[in-house]
Amino acid sequence: MLICDEYITPATLSDAFAAMERHRGRYRVVAGCTDTLPWAREGRAGDVEIPVLIDVSKIPELNERRADGAHVRLGAATPVQRFLDDAVLGRTMPAMPRCAVWFADDQIRAHATVGGNIVNASPAADLIPCLIAHDAAVELATANGRRSLALREFTLGPGKTALQEGELVTAIVCDALPGYGGSFEKVGHRRSLVISTVCLAVLVKLDAAGRVFEDVRLAIAGVCPAPRRLTEIEQALRGVRLSSAKLEEVADMPLDVVQSRTRQEYRRDVVRGFLMRGLINAAKRAGADPTALPQDFETTYA
Ligand SMILES: Cc1cc2nc3c(=O)[nH]c(=O)nc-3n(C[C@H](O)[C@H](O)[C@H](O)COP(=O)(O)OP(=O)(O)OC[C@H]3O[C@@H](n4cnc5c(N)ncnc54)[C@H](O)[C@@H]3O)c2cc1C
Repeated sequence: MLICDEYITPATLSDAFAAMERHRGRYRVVAGCTDTLPWAREGRAGDVEIPVLIDVSKIPELNERRADGAHVRLGAATPVQRFLDDAVLGRTMPAMPRCAVWFADDQIRAHATVGGNIVNASPAADLIPCLIAHDAAVELATANGRRSLALREFTLGPGKTALQEGELVTAIVCDALPGYGGSFEKVGHRRSLVISTVCLAVLVKLDAAGRVFEDVRLAIAGVCPAPRRLTEIEQALRGVRLSSAKLEEVADMPLDVVQSRTRQEYRRDVVRGFLMRGLINAAKRAGADPTALPQDFETTYA
């Protein structure tokens, strides 16, 4: 059970830092609380008493969304649901709506935030691989200044991040990728409301004829201590002609990325299938020439 004496909802970032200073050593920052509440309620942490909860989800700066031609800046308190509702996000972050569809359910999606997902740093977090594929950087602030860190450097391992005492995540800044085709493949113990056993974010840009991979970005989670890019496969595809044979070839590349202690063979099979399906789906959405793709795709990989 979670016991708390005071629940503070600061209206500005400086109010939040003032509350953090006032309650130093006695507070926990929360946003949607969708990780914090089950952690306490299910007794995983025993009975938890946190004297002060500081809820940063109402701070306007943490809810901003800005996009220019090159970058998207997302406030840390952006709820996952926004990836389904905001057309600009759908266009500039093409794998995200597909990730959001598989993320929890309507109620959790409305509260779960981007900042909470990355600070919780689960090896199976769904948003992190998508953001890593966008070369995301994390913007961090204290009362005295700001710094920025690549997301792959911020996420250090299961439950571990580079967040320091007195720091808040204010925003995520990532590449805007309009014109890319996106895909998000996920499997878990059940069909819905589950943490991923394996998930894969795929972003593909093709040439104007839909025949050559101009760019490929792949990031995986659930199978290694922290989500990561599959750079070897990305490199093997860049500048290469799209063909079924090439997709089969990269899906067969050795995958030492699977480091889970259990069900390694199963996970390797899943990763192979996800690579094929994810690349095909993303290529189709990027405008692939249909003759370059496996004709039996719908039955084999859909
Ligand atoms: C039923 C259910 C289904 C779920 N399904 C999924 C799923 O499909 N995929 C998935 O990835 N996750 C899932 N989750 C986990 C959870 O919803 C996400 O990790 C969510 O993004 C967490 O965000 P939050 O704002 O609710 O985090 P909170 O619980 O509020 O916070 C989590 C952590 O982040 C810290 N924090 C939050 N915001 C900030 C900030 N701005 N600065 C510094 N620290 C901060 C908190 O101190 C805490 O340590 C599920 C959870 C539940 C209960």
